[in-house]
Amino acid sequence: MERVLVVGAGTMGSGIAHVFAQHGFEVLLYDVAPEVLQRALATIERNLQRQQQKGVLSEAEKQAALQRIQTGTDLHSFAAQAEFVIEAAPENVSLKRQLFAQLDQLCAPEVILASNTSSISITLLAAATQRPDRVIGMHFFNPVPVMQLCELVRGLATSDETYQRVEELARRLGKTPVCVQDSPGFVSNRILMPMINEAVYCLMEGVASAQDIDTVMRLGMNHPMGPLALADLIGLDVCLAILEVLHRELGDDKYRPCPLLRKMVAAGYLGRKTGRGFYDYTT
Ligand code: NAD
Repeated sequence: MERVLVVGAGTMGSGIAHVFAQHGFEVLLYDVAPEVLQRALATIERNLQRQQQKGVLSEAEKQAALQRIQTGTDLHSFAAQAEFVIEAAPENVSLKRQLFAQLDQLCAPEVILASNTSSISITLLAAATQRPDRVIGMHFFNPVPVMQLCELVRGLATSDETYQRVEELARRLGKTPVCVQDSPGFVSNRILMPMINEAVYCLMEGVASAQDIDTVMRLGMNHPMGPLALADLIGLDVCLAILEVLHRELGDDKYRPCPLLRKMVAAGYLGRKTGRGFYDYTT
């Protein structure tokens, strides 16, 4: 599995491409939008440069990593060459199911198809293919070159062989893999999102200010970042969407998204990306 196809070159796809190239894999980076590919390459180059300045990589290793990345908008030709696929397209069930069905048609039968989804069922994606035993979740964290964790998500039909091969792959990338069964939000978001939601309830009920809520979690629990600042970083729309999945799929009201979170999203206050969330980023 030396030639890897990365599907989607946004925030996560570019980070995933970076890490594979850094660890010696040939990377085929695909996106529907050519300008996204250009932006992704610029981001990867900037982040490799940063690693070089920190002494993680030499100049030659940085150049070699960049040369191992090919970008393109022709899925057919890339899929035909791929030995492993990781999908990082938008978090949309029908789009991902369609992509998996297409990749299943285009890739050689032995190729493993992985998804970086945060909340969509791997079993559901696998069922869109004729190779459900070779479909798995490989959930990286943002920023991918920095974050250690990789949740490996086993769908109902994921084979032991697929799991073992992907576990080995994660280790080759310098990540720490954990095995998670296919369940809404996996482990990371199942625990993180209710915590963020509870912080928003505290804010809505006037228990404390946003800053004080975050200070409690930073200084009292040693979290590097408070939950509201973290929600702003993730994007409040993304947090709401994941909470809705947890609420709907697990059917327990403890996952009910806080009305204030809904209101913020309705107002377009999505966090850092719009300049305003629980904090103001415009000044
Ligand atoms: P993003 O919007 O930054 O990137 C998605 C990319 O997919 C865009 O560049 C878009 O042009 C491209 N795209 C759209 N349709 C496509 C198609 N049919 N085929 C290929 N590419 C297509 O999103 P992101 O934040 O990188 O998230 C990607 C995936 O990773 C999602 O499933 C998300 O849940 C998951 N994820 C995100 C984070 C995070 O912190 N952002 C963390 C872990 C997992």
